[in-house]
Amino acid sequence: MKKYLLYVFLQISLLIFSFNAMGSGSTGGGDNLSRDSGAAWYYDTSKTIKICFSISPDFGLNEETIKKDVQSAFKMWDHYFLTKGICSEFPDEQKFTTKIELLTQCNGKEDLTIYAGVTNDTVEAYKKNFHNPTAFVARTKLDLENLWAKGFIWLAKEKSVILDGITGIDFPDWNIPGNLTAMLLHEIGHIYGNEHVEETIMMSDMAKLLMYDNYFLKMRIDTFRELYRCNSCEKRYTGLIDESDKANTFLLFAQISGHNLPNNSIISLRKEANSKNYILSLYDDLNSFRDNLTFEITDERSSKESASIFKHINGSQNYTTSNIVYGFVVGKNGNKFPLVLEDNFSNGNGLFPPRLIGFLDGKKVVIAKFYKGDE
Ligand SMILES: [Zn+2]
Repeated sequence: MKKYLLYVFLQISLLIFSFNAMGSGSTGGGDNLSRDSGAAWYYDTSKTIKICFSISPDFGLNEETIKKDVQSAFKMWDHYFLTKGICSEFPDEQKFTTKIELLTQCNGKEDLTIYAGVTNDTVEAYKKNFHNPTAFVARTKLDLENLWAKGFIWLAKEKSVILDGITGIDFPDWNIPGNLTAMLLHEIGHIYGNEHVEETIMMSDMAKLLMYDNYFLKMRIDTFRELYRCNSCEKRYTGLIDESDKANTFLLFAQISGHNLPNNSIISLRKEANSKNYILSLYDDLNSFRDNLTFEITDERSSKESASIFKHINGSQNYTTSNIVYGFVVGKNGNKFPLVLEDNFSNGNGLFPPRLIGFLDGKKVVIAKFYKGDE
């Protein structure tokens, strides 16, 4: 419940903060269809990304802190790849590498340069591609044969960015805990082949997150929802029969289960780790009855969103965020009833609670809205 309250609070706060501020940089360009466009830079888990730093004394944080944040950000992506099974189907030499080595100086041997408040001709040339950036990432060289790139992350010095339409705010403030890590997570996310995906660390408007005072959200890749919807992870949702469609829902469940549901029915969806199917449970708060039905998944796909995530340069796998699950439950009489689970949906200002939808005489029935979801 505590988590739910936090969630509601966040939605309200985000509404307040949903002004149109500057976007952070992206590798951009949806019109270039070449194989490498927007694809991840670094492959082969046995290889190490050499990183050097060019730090301005007035950046706002010292070298030690910046280095620590870069290390944490790469570690978080590493953890994400492992737990979500990203690229797990590829041989090691084609998996993304997250191994890094911090060089003591920039001498040409580096693969990635972090410019913290520092600029030069190269930075300025690439900066022209972005509008008023707080940070951006640029790939300067690509070796297609060895699946390796060179490039940089540029970060604005503290309090140097004027947000569009907003005055009187010193932005960015790298001293707010989590801000630099969040910004680095985002930019490194581009390096691993992610486009912008709203409500995640890859959101287009990072100013929204950096101005928001919640350390824990800044330390998450799945900020408000999952960037990569984990199919092998355990999932649990609990909710109530949706009031708006209650009569039809009761009719539908009478057909499915062969009996009437009590008025105060609670509905839950549970998916065990590595299982494809959900168990759909209906019970009342007195536990006087319980139906367990298996919701068999027939298809899983993304909808309304076309963002490319973890784009692999070999292209054989191009994940997209997914949020619609199709399937069916088998009723007591052996008939199949189609169901749709809408999950991981955002309206740009927050996450919709997952919805379970059924069909009665061809008409869409919202069966349940879930208020509690756990990854
Ligand atoms: Zn971006």
